[in-house]
Amino acid sequence: VFEYAPAPESRAVVDIKPSYGLFINGEFTDGRGTSFKTVNPATEEVLAEVAEASDTDVDEAVKAARRAYTRVWSRMSGAERAKYLYRIARIIQERGRELAVLESIDNGKPIKESRDVDVPIVAAHFFYYAGWADKLKYAGYGETPLGVAGQVIPWNFPLLMLAWKIAPALACGNTVVLKPAETTPLTALLFAEICQQADLPPGVVNIVTGAGDTGRAIVSHPDVDKVAFTGSTEVGKAIARAVAGSDKKVTLELGGKAANIVFDDAPLDQAVEGIVNGIFFNQGHVCCAGSRLLVQESVADEVMARLKRRMATLRVGDPLDKNTDVGAINSAEQLAKIRELSEIGEAEGAERWSAPCELPANGYWFAPTVFTGVSQAHRIAREEIFGPVLSVLTFRTPSEAVEKANNTPFGLSAGVWTDKGSRILSMANRLRAGVVWANTFNKFDPTSPFGGYKESGYGREGGRHGLEGYLKPITTGGDR
Ligand code: NAD
Repeated sequence: VFEYAPAPESRAVVDIKPSYGLFINGEFTDGRGTSFKTVNPATEEVLAEVAEASDTDVDEAVKAARRAYTRVWSRMSGAERAKYLYRIARIIQERGRELAVLESIDNGKPIKESRDVDVPIVAAHFFYYAGWADKLKYAGYGETPLGVAGQVIPWNFPLLMLAWKIAPALACGNTVVLKPAETTPLTALLFAEICQQADLPPGVVNIVTGAGDTGRAIVSHPDVDKVAFTGSTEVGKAIARAVAGSDKKVTLELGGKAANIVFDDAPLDQAVEGIVNGIFFNQGHVCCAGSRLLVQESVADEVMARLKRRMATLRVGDPLDKNTDVGAINSAEQLAKIRELSEIGEAEGAERWSAPCELPANGYWFAPTVFTGVSQAHRIAREEIFGPVLSVLTFRTPSEAVEKANNTPFGLSAGVWTDKGSRILSMANRLRAGVVWANTFNKFDPTSPFGGYKESGYGREGGRHGLEGYLKPITTGGDR
C-alpha cells in the first residue's frame, strides 16, 4: 500500500496487488505465458508480478474482441455506446486520484503532472469521443467500424496513450486488444477494472500485458483489422513491414526531435518557461518534446542566462511529492540511453551544463541538462534522447530557423516564440511538423488532431481526424 501523503486533505491510497493477470473477455485471467516484474523507477522496488501474454492468450483476446464486435458492440446504437463512454469518463474522474498516484508510482512522473495533466486529459478524451459516437451515422461520412483494433502503446504516458487509442476506437464501434508497455502496465489494468465497473460488455476492451513478443503477436494476428501503434520509429518501421501485404489499416505515432524557436522579439521570461516545459515536462519522455532550442543569436546569451537560473530552481525527486517538478527516469535502460547520448554530446565538443541538484541514492535519475555549442551534425541535435536533455542551436534569420528546424528525419511538432502574429503564421506554414505551437508548448486537447510527418509516422489521433483511423467506407469490405 502506497500513501500519497504530502497534503493531509488530499490523501489517497492505492492498493497494488502482488500479481496481476490479463484482462480478456471482461475477466482477469492468469494467462498461459510467464510473468515479468514492474518496478517503481523512483526506488527500484518491485511493485508487482505481471502476466506476460503468450500467442495463445493474444489469440483468445482477439477472439473475445471479435465476438463482442459482431454480437454486441457494432450492433449497438451510437447513443448507447456513448453512454458507456460517458460512464467510463465519469469513473475516471471519480477515481482520478487513484489513477494519478498509480501512474506516478509505476512511471516516475511527478504527481502534479499525472494529477493535473494526464488524468484530466484522459477523462476529456472519453467525454469528447463519447460525443461523437451517436453522430457518425448521420454526419454524412458514410462510414462504419473496422472490427478489431490491435493497439500497442509506450511507457511515457501510459494512461493518456490508452485513452487516445481506446476512446475513438470504441466510439466508432470497434472493439480492442491493447498492450501497455512492459515497464508501465499497472494503470491499464486499473482501467480494465473501470471497464468492469462501467459494465462494459465483455470483450469490448481486452488488455494483454507483455513485451515486444506480445506486441508482435497482436500486430500480426490475422483477425486484427487495424493496428494503432505509438512508440519508437524503429519498432514502427518493423510493424509497417510486418503488416505489409495485409489489408490491416495502420496508424503510427513515432519519435520526434522538435525545434522550439525563440525570436528576439519574444517575451523572454514566457519563452524560458516554454523552453523548460518543452523539455523537462515528464522528464523529457515526450515524443513532441522541444528537445532542440533554436534561439536567435541576438538574444542567445540572455536566454541562456535566464534558462540556467530557471533550471536551477527545478525540484527533482520523489514523484509523489506534490512540489516535485522533475521525477524519475522510467527505466534503467532509458537512463543508460540518456547517459550514453549525453556522453556522446560532450565527446563531440558541445558544452554540457546540468542543474545543480541532489539526486536520490536509489532509483533512476538524471539532472536537467542543457548543451550549448551544438552543431546540426552532432548526434544530440539529430537523435531523440527522450530525456531531460536540451540541445541549443542559434540562428540569425527566420529562413535559417526554418531550415534548421526542418533539418531532421522527424516531423512531429515545433514551437515558435515571437511577438509578431504574421511571423507565427508564416513559420507555421513553413515548418514541416504535425503540430506547431505558438507562444506555448506541449499543449494537448482532445479536439485537436495530433500526429507527424516523415519518420514521426502517419495518421492522426484526436479530433475528428482521430476517427478516420477507426472507420472504413460503408459499402466496401463487409464484415469478417
Ligand atoms: P518502443 O517502440 O520500444 O515500445 C513501444 C511499445 O511497442 C511497447 O509496448 C513495446 O512492448 C512494443 N513493442 C516492442 N517491439 C515490438 C514489436 N516488434 N512489435 C510490436 N510491438 C512491439 O518505444 P518506447 O521505448 O516504449 O517509447 C518511446 C518511444 O515512443 C519514443 O521514440 C517516442 O518518441 C515514442 N512516442 C511517440 C509518441 C507519438 O505520439 N508520436 C508518443 C509517445 C511516445
